[in-house]
Amino acid sequence: MKQIALKIDVDTYRGTREGVPRLMETLQRHQAGATFFFTLGRDNMGRAIFRVFRKGYLQKVSRMSVVEHYGIKTLLYGTLLPAPNIGKRCRDILRSVKEAGFEVGIHCHDHIRWQDHVVHKDEAWTKRELERAIAVYRDVFGEEPHAHAAAGWQMNRHAFRLMQRLGFRYSSDSRGYAPFIPTWDGEIIACPQLPTTLPTLDELINRDGLTLDNLAEYMLNLTQDAPPTGHVFTLHAELEGGKWMPVFEQLLDGWKKQGYQLVAMQDYLAHLPTTCLPHHPVELREVDGRIGKLTVQRP
Ligand SMILES: [Zn+2]
Repeated sequence: MKQIALKIDVDTYRGTREGVPRLMETLQRHQAGATFFFTLGRDNMGRAIFRVFRKGYLQKVSRMSVVEHYGIKTLLYGTLLPAPNIGKRCRDILRSVKEAGFEVGIHCHDHIRWQDHVVHKDEAWTKRELERAIAVYRDVFGEEPHAHAAAGWQMNRHAFRLMQRLGFRYSSDSRGYAPFIPTWDGEIIACPQLPTTLPTLDELINRDGLTLDNLAEYMLNLTQDAPPTGHVFTLHAELEGGKWMPVFEQLLDGWKKQGYQLVAMQDYLAHLPTTCLPHHPVELREVDGRIGKLTVQRP
């Protein structure tokens, strides 16, 4: 069976309030499943301004018009404007996603904190951040979380261990080519890892002649031949749930024509031979169109 799992990262307060309802409506219209991974604490996205000192940041910002997609306010949250608490203020929206039958999971508690710091942090810090997200998840959804998708594909060894220790059914924290059991310095971490296998739209836009007009066509070329274990596509509530919705709809139509089922991550997992997934080491590596290094599946 050809499947594409749709993994939706929800990074911001605005993305939760505006992008999530729009995506739910679109997915329902296309009868597509998907998993929403939520940022559950405060939206401190404005603090991304400090990334201006990092290599490649300004280049990326100018490549994709950050203000247009995220809005001025988002770019000030946690700096000039107070950071809105997503878990508190968007509780009804979060619950409505699950009630509509979509799978939900944890993206993070504070996106900026996790994305910018987890790589260098110790076990206590990592556990605390994850437990904060879990506490909100429990409170909002009234159940234990079963799925995690790391903010910015940033992880450390402790975070991987916690996926196993906390009994998550799977996590999706890396970029790669097929589902696997991760190893870290030879240590096996027994929690299935479902890597994102396709590039994201923001990694492609305005590079190599790619524009909003030919982005879908380019992506559909990449999915023409299905790998035996299908694909995981990551999208963002702020982008595909906003101005890039038409491109996303072209993708949904195109993938259906190519014979793919569009499913939530848990349904994708259900079709995998989870008892005999291959072991692969993970490492930090640069990925085209992204700043810094991401967690990547090694061959
Ligand atoms: Zn994110």
